[in-house]
Amino acid sequence: MTIKTIRSAFPVLARAHFHYLDNAAMAQVPGQVINAVAAHDVAARANVHRGLHDLARRADAAYEAARESVAGFLSARPDEVVFTGGCTQALNLVAGGLAESLGPRDMVVVSVAEHHSNLLPWLMLAKRRGFQLASIPVTWDGRLDLSDLSMIDARCKVVAVTHVSNVTGAVSDIPRLAEAAHAVGAKLVVDGAQRTPHGPVDPRALGADFYAFAGHKTYGPTGVGVLWGRAEHLAHLPPAAWGGGMVAGLDGETVDFLDPPRRFEAGTPPVAQAVGLAAALDWMRGLDWDKVRLHEAGLTRQLLAGLAGLDGIELVGPNGLEDRLPVVSFTVKGCHPHDVAHLLGEHGVAVRGGAHCSQPLMKALGLHEGCLRVSMAPYNDDSDIHALLRGLAEAVRVLR
Ligand code: PLP
Repeated sequence: MTIKTIRSAFPVLARAHFHYLDNAAMAQVPGQVINAVAAHDVAARANVHRGLHDLARRADAAYEAARESVAGFLSARPDEVVFTGGCTQALNLVAGGLAESLGPRDMVVVSVAEHHSNLLPWLMLAKRRGFQLASIPVTWDGRLDLSDLSMIDARCKVVAVTHVSNVTGAVSDIPRLAEAAHAVGAKLVVDGAQRTPHGPVDPRALGADFYAFAGHKTYGPTGVGVLWGRAEHLAHLPPAAWGGGMVAGLDGETVDFLDPPRRFEAGTPPVAQAVGLAAALDWMRGLDWDKVRLHEAGLTRQLLAGLAGLDGIELVGPNGLEDRLPVVSFTVKGCHPHDVAHLLGEHGVAVRGGAHCSQPLMKALGLHEGCLRVSMAPYNDDSDIHALLRGLAEAVRVLR
């Protein structure tokens, strides 16, 4: 499959003068996802696990088939896959459940590089339950600094880290963190939001206990996310949201929760969105990921070289290709990132400027005004990088 064929699967990319490099915020959707959601709404739109009529049975089948598709993507069992409203909700679900057994003698370890979605749940629960919160620092180039993991000690019950930084694209050493966490009996929660857009993942093989990701960054619809958990952990995790569809019985104050995953899916789940996510993962399965990764690395190399040739650009994050995905951030001397992002937008180049919901990382790296982020997907090509570099040179000329 060529990049041209990949591009042609995405209707929005047919727009003229359009260079979408904001994939870490939201990826575009292939036509087959749009069609799958529409077809579901025509043929099987009903609530799940409640109705006995024809549409309801079709909806149940489509929803559970979507769960199986996600399980395949994660090399997991379907009953280990919980559908949520997004990655943030998945992280809140696991944090809320795990925090129920945490108190003042316990500690949760996060990292300075966390997106607020994997920081604020732990921070707010720490205030409520009284447990301690510690942070793994970052190196000068924004990688997790694993040189001293002594904070992962007997008090530590959870280590919660990102798989890939949404700012620097740096890939965390999850197996090493799993080893450190498991050595003290702690559980490892991994925020996979920026990893899943770049191919299937096996969180169990990596050593994770829980793994969360977002549909909208993984070429699927908005409003759907996934929490994967090892079956043995989900079996003991208390639900952190309550409502219809999650109990086997309710008698007075005695509640008998359903087994996972339905115990964690209170209320009407994102049915059509889950079906769309399954179509997105099917589309991903059709790609040759060895080739796509080479292509993405080639674009990253081209971008890093182009940025190095521009005056006043300071890279945020690794300057090489090792252990990084195609997310590249930088600052432009004398220019506010919002101004540059705005001017690039005028040239049809979509990037993001700001703090990227990662204020602790901005502070640690001294980025008081934030930075610009270029994030790529398999459908990006040379023309996107050229347009970006041209637009940047022009923006700098206007702003300085
Ligand atoms: N974690 C990371 C690393 C992210 O980049 C994002 C979104 O930008 C999230 C979590 C939040 O995901 P969602 O928008 O699905 O809640």
